[in-house]
Amino acid sequence: MIYDVVIIGGGPAGYTAALYCVRSGLSVLVLEKLSPGGQMAATSVIDNYPGFEEGIEGFDLGQKMKACADRFGAKTLLGEVFSVDLKSDIKKIESSEGGFEAKTVIIATGASPRKLGLPEEESLGGRGVAYCATCDGMFFKGKTVAVIGGGNSAVEDALYLSKLCKKVYLIHRRNELRAASVYKPALEKAEHIEIVWNSVVKNILHGGTVTGITVEDTVSGKTSDIACDGVFVAVGRIPNTAFLKGALETDTNGYIAADETTQTSIPGVFAAGDVRTKPLRQIVNACADGACASKFAEEYISVHG
Ligand code: NAP
Repeated sequence: MIYDVVIIGGGPAGYTAALYCVRSGLSVLVLEKLSPGGQMAATSVIDNYPGFEEGIEGFDLGQKMKACADRFGAKTLLGEVFSVDLKSDIKKIESSEGGFEAKTVIIATGASPRKLGLPEEESLGGRGVAYCATCDGMFFKGKTVAVIGGGNSAVEDALYLSKLCKKVYLIHRRNELRAASVYKPALEKAEHIEIVWNSVVKNILHGGTVTGITVEDTVSGKTSDIACDGVFVAVGRIPNTAFLKGALETDTNGYIAADETTQTSIPGVFAAGDVRTKPLRQIVNACADGACASKFAEEYISVHG
């Protein structure tokens, strides 16, 4: 069978695209690596997706999004995509569940936060270690947190958290921020932010939940402890595009180049959600991308057959 659309990635972008595509009468296969919801499924409570006034568990929202697409006939297979051949009119996808063919492909594989690589980092996820200030900042209201990184994300996170938290340490490994200078006045004005320069995190201290970090001064080599309740890691993100093996154009950070139409450098191939180059990566605009991708996939099929 040749599907009208194969969607790679079953997060909010993928399942919104699936919902819109099946409702337009297209045949749809979603290939999801782990569990519906993608990165969202690993997030505890989501309070910034409209319509759920009490918030909603990320896992539950993922299941609901899948159920919406299932209702109109989308098919999901849990499996990992290894490689794709996107050049021909009929696109080929190789996965752990076998090979598939499609007239169009929507890539919605998201991006993963870059980790610090510390031993306790993984196990303290949801217990003080976080990767998204807009998602998890509220859990640290009135508390002390450390933001790690010196790029735009780290500075934006520090500024966002400074409005909620009693104290924010911004820990950067150099003596100069990578972040754009446009943030400088706001950083200088923010009373609760203290920048800790030339410092790398060597250890996350905890007693079940985070209690602090040990940092090493890269100039003196001295280590010291900073007490905090939360650690926000903002050292960049890695788009999940390895399986593409360079088949599509990307921006300098490796995100798939596509504008608001989600059309990529290859006709009939679309990129939706966090994997696409864009200024804000949230569930709501991932969903919006999914809807756009379906519209342009449908248009492509109606022209090319
Ligand atoms: P980024 O610009 O790559 O910055 C990553 C930061 O983390 C850098 O300061 C880097 O230090 C530091 N870092 C990397 N690995 C580290 C490690 N292992 N330990 C400690 N520190 C480490 O990433 P980003 O801030 O997530 O931004 C990604 C892209 O999105 C950028 O192009 C950014 O401009 C864009 N963005 C735009 C906006 C906006 O326009 N509003 C907002 C957020 C992000 P060094 O500086 O020493 O390399």
